[in-house]
Amino acid sequence: MNLSVAEAALPAAEPVMRRPSLAGRTRAGLDEALAEIGVPGKERRMRVDQLWNWIYHYGVRDFQEMTTIGKGLRAQLAEHFTLDLPEVTAEQVSTDGTRKWLLRMAPTGPRDRGAEIECVYIPEVDRGTLCVSSQVGCTLTCTFCHTGTQRLVRNLTTEEIVTQLMVARERLGDFPNRAAPDGAFVPNDGGRFVSNIVFMGMGEPLYNFDGVRDAIAVISDDQGLSLGRRRITVSTSGVVPQIEALGAQMGTMLAISLHAVRDELRNELVPLNKKYPIKDLLEACRNYPGLSNAKRITFEYVMLKGVNDSDAEARELVRLLKGIPAKINLIPFNPWPGTRYECSDWERIERFSEIVFKAGYASPVRTPRGRDILAACGQLKSETEKLSARARLMLEQDEAETTAAAH
Ligand code: SAH
Ligand code: SF4
Repeated sequence: MNLSVAEAALPAAEPVMRRPSLAGRTRAGLDEALAEIGVPGKERRMRVDQLWNWIYHYGVRDFQEMTTIGKGLRAQLAEHFTLDLPEVTAEQVSTDGTRKWLLRMAPTGPRDRGAEIECVYIPEVDRGTLCVSSQVGCTLTCTFCHTGTQRLVRNLTTEEIVTQLMVARERLGDFPNRAAPDGAFVPNDGGRFVSNIVFMGMGEPLYNFDGVRDAIAVISDDQGLSLGRRRITVSTSGVVPQIEALGAQMGTMLAISLHAVRDELRNELVPLNKKYPIKDLLEACRNYPGLSNAKRITFEYVMLKGVNDSDAEARELVRLLKGIPAKINLIPFNPWPGTRYECSDWERIERFSEIVFKAGYASPVRTPRGRDILAACGQLKSETEKLSARARLMLEQDEAETTAAAH
């Protein structure tokens, strides 16, 4: 977390004081907001419920539309708060319907321009999946992942996670009785609803445990955004000590980024493996609360040419997962500029998939989606890094000047 570096690059002027947004807040966060403006304790619970319904069920963006709340309180709310969502700085629509939004988060201080993150919507025949980010960048450095090369990293707040879904619902015209904003591309094929969420964007969700847990509580609340926990999947590179707590406290589906069947190779691909080796990871999976044939763990396996894609590795994968209710998701590697890896050939992926399938596992090969707009897994890397590089340079110059001045 190094926002001060980014801040240092911005002009000293413009100390804009923004009113905080209530969008994305938990019930406790809304209660706090009401307390701040003097709403008495005994009234607050009811007010929180009203706000909740307007913000999350109806997606309203203006306090004046909250007709169940008296005019006086509406005016007071509008004076102190907004219902702003992160700004959509770019919207790209792929030829296959996949959509990528570049979102600029609200500045965290007067000189912060706001971090940028990406969020991807993937429409499919029977579902619409939103791929959300849990961090700006990632502190882990998986060698095949573009996000892992980004230096500027911070956790997203609960609000910043929840509002990714709110932006998607709004841009897709998915809130009841609300038209999408001007310029948004709304599909007319009926397949526009966000029915599932996967934490497979930027960041390691289990390194932002509290933020993700609280966001999931908001997202899955059936009085509001109403996305059931069975429709939410948290993907982790293997933060073993947090896996049980994930199941116990969030109750979502679990996906594990396995990618290799031997520690030696996994140490290289997913360096976190040095801390939590395969054996410990799979033990944590066996103990995942609520695990059953109806609630299987998804094991993600990125197909890297000549690295992890042999028949022997497919057989070893099957052997390792024995006894764990599992699905195996083979992901064709998405190359990015400067990567040392290549995607396995199609015949190789098919052969690998066949071995896994014959052993009794559903093994869908994840069709690459949105490749033309660089929206695929592991390609999300924000513009913030460019700012960071420039910021770093300016900070160095600043420091040099300060040091020179001190002598
Ligand atoms: N940090 C979490 C979630 C985000 S990454 C995790 O690692 O699980 C989501 C998935 O995309 C992971 O399985 C990750 O290994 C995979 N991935 C990363 N880079 C990729 C790339 N270039 N091509 C294909 N999959 C990639
Ligand atoms: Fe981080 Fe996941 Fe990328 Fe690894 S694969 S660097 S854990 S985002």
